[in-house]
Amino acid sequence: MIPEAILGLRCCQCDWEGPSVPFTYTCPDCSDNLDFIYDYDRINAFCTPLSLNKDHDASLWRYLPLLPVMKAPENRSLRVGGTPLVDFPRIAQNNGISRLQIKDDTRNPSGSLKDRASELAIQHAKELGHDKIIAASTGNAGSSLAALTAYHNIQSIILAPATAPPAKLTQILQYGAQLVPVNANYDSAFDLAIELSKRHNVYCRNTGVNPILAEGKKTVALEIAEQNHWKVPDHIFIPVGDGCIISSVYKGFFDLLSLNWIDTMPALHAVQAEGSAAIVNSLSNEHDIQAVSANTLADSISVDQPRDGTKARRAVIESDGQGFLVSDSNILTAQKLLSEATGIFAEPAAAAAYAGFLQASATGLFKGDDHVVLLVTGSGLKDTANAQKLLRSIEPVAATLADLETFLDSFQD
Ligand SMILES: *Cc1c(COP(=O)(O)O)cnc(C)c1O
Ligand SMILES: [Zn+2]
Repeated sequence: MIPEAILGLRCCQCDWEGPSVPFTYTCPDCSDNLDFIYDYDRINAFCTPLSLNKDHDASLWRYLPLLPVMKAPENRSLRVGGTPLVDFPRIAQNNGISRLQIKDDTRNPSGSLKDRASELAIQHAKELGHDKIIAASTGNAGSSLAALTAYHNIQSIILAPATAPPAKLTQILQYGAQLVPVNANYDSAFDLAIELSKRHNVYCRNTGVNPILAEGKKTVALEIAEQNHWKVPDHIFIPVGDGCIISSVYKGFFDLLSLNWIDTMPALHAVQAEGSAAIVNSLSNEHDIQAVSANTLADSISVDQPRDGTKARRAVIESDGQGFLVSDSNILTAQKLLSEATGIFAEPAAAAAYAGFLQASATGLFKGDDHVVLLVTGSGLKDTANAQKLLRSIEPVAATLADLETFLDSFQD
């Protein structure tokens, strides 16, 4: 069975188009990534902003008519998606813009935006009759898959670099997934997971190479539009590693434009760490994407060969966005400043979006009436070791009032 509004799959690189059943992960002709194509008139016939208004499901499943699966799972109250979009007038004012909002995707069940993709992939895998899912991960895709496969009662195998942040590896084990720490980087784990998935016919949740994941992640764009009553922001800052999140955000707004529910595409800005800059490099040099040897403390965006590079480039170019490169020290500073200004603790990769925003602001990118959204993709509790680098360590105090007063005085300057 095929969801009624689905027309098929289309390659993002060559002009291959084909059916979505039987399911193919990548293009049979050029092996680049695929997009789901929809019959937008069909969707508009049974789903509109008005009908959504009456839907009380706050999870991403409220957008089922815009998703390529047959149905929503029965249990969805753990709630993936439906994350807050929070206004920060003080940050807006300090940067001379009219509005600054943070889409706080740390507030997903496993603490990152990856839950949106895992949630949809699990439903898709079940509909295809699979009982096991494999993924390679720098940490978050794996901890997300582990959490949600526990919730939806299906098995998962997760390959992650043994050097991933301990909290992320702990999450994977804690949720009962089969963790395979590999003595190699993310890129090698990625290729291994695909081989195993093919050889043993296990459903594969590797970023980029499965178009379902982009459909799950695009719900963050649908929410940003709906939470702003279908008036989209001018700019969105997105941390980029493999490029799947930014291309999914593009796909979400692309769908909404095609449905005529919104009338402009926000500028989608790609923020990468200087040490992991394959996509942003390709934007400024206008060459194809060339692999780098990644080196950044922002592990979630540390990628040699981006697995969704073609679509990510398209997202930035078609939306009139720009690429921004930030250093690791910019990221750590931004991480601290963001927490102090907002009460939101972002992991380094997520804080990169704020570092990119500050850089854009300093270079005069914005106009006075601009409305900007920052995508905060993952929680800082997943990687406290990096954040601690900027914190001063504090000696314990004896439990007397005098010691306490002396202690507090020492903090006045
Ligand atoms: C995965 C991830 C990213 C980067 O997403 P890509 O699709 O690889 O570009 C950014 N931030 C966090 C927290 C992530 O987990
Ligand atoms: Zn192709």
